[in-house]
Amino acid sequence: MFNNLSDRITASLKGLRGHGRLSEADVDKTIREIRRALLDADVAVPVVRDFTGRVRERALGEEVSKALNPAQQVVKIVNDELVDVLGGATGELTWAKNPPTVIMLAGLQGAGKTTLAGKLAKWMKDQGHTPMLVAADLQRPNAVNQLQIVGERAGVPVFAPEPGNGVGDPVQVALNGVSTAQFQQHDVVIVDTAGRLGVDEEMMQQARDIRDAVHPDDTLFVVDAMIGQDAARVAEAFRDGVGFTGVVLSKLDGDARGGAALSITGVTQRPILFASTGEQLGDFERFHPDRMAGRILD
Ligand code: GDP
Repeated sequence: MFNNLSDRITASLKGLRGHGRLSEADVDKTIREIRRALLDADVAVPVVRDFTGRVRERALGEEVSKALNPAQQVVKIVNDELVDVLGGATGELTWAKNPPTVIMLAGLQGAGKTTLAGKLAKWMKDQGHTPMLVAADLQRPNAVNQLQIVGERAGVPVFAPEPGNGVGDPVQVALNGVSTAQFQQHDVVIVDTAGRLGVDEEMMQQARDIRDAVHPDDTLFVVDAMIGQDAARVAEAFRDGVGFTGVVLSKLDGDARGGAALSITGVTQRPILFASTGEQLGDFERFHPDRMAGRILD
């Protein structure tokens, strides 16, 4: 995905044999290669700078171990640092002590929130939970209908705005949805919210109002892995405008170069919990930093 990053590292250290420490010139040669690969993959510049700084420091500081040659040693350092930037261990959802657990989805229009709502609900249902979906995206004409369709496919009920339960007011719909879920003893409620094509203050305000009304246990920022260089900027805008506890990377099945994952976790320090990998309900998986690091290197 990063154009064989490990091959590039290996090529840059070709011919070196393991003994003692790597020279500064050798390390700098491979750091240049790593920097180029990360920038090619649209990783945000400050993240690239931090990352290569840490790799350089470790590569200069560590003795080349007996078991590895210098290139393998640097690949291992890069792998460890990638896992670290990507959040270390696999991230977990926060389950409420008193159900329902409230999960709010936020992100730009087209990021994949509605699709993700269905996938997440199905994933939870398969584990014995009893999720309910709440259609609080009243911005896009077809959003409520689309959530009803994914809810039906997932076999999960959808709370949709109707006369009497807050039609036209997304905050009221969200609130009524959560209280209905509580009343009907659903243990999880997933609130879909509106996005815009670009970041705008009105959208952020609406998301904040919904957040303040329903007090989510987790707010998941859903982001299209294909947006490349914009990922860091959009993630920062949502972090500052709404705040989020975790990230879902969608469209990871496309030819995204994976820079978005590194940029977002590097800039926001929030873990990526899930990856969306297609349009079907089952195209969904937990996000494992170590596996992603492996994919980036290969
Ligand atoms: P929302 O506006 O954030 O609710 O985004 P949607 O859920 O409506 O998704 C926007 C478009 O992206 C739809 O056509 C989805 O079918 C598609 N989509 C969503 N997630 C994925 C994914 O993981 N992979 C692919 N290839 N398409 C996706």
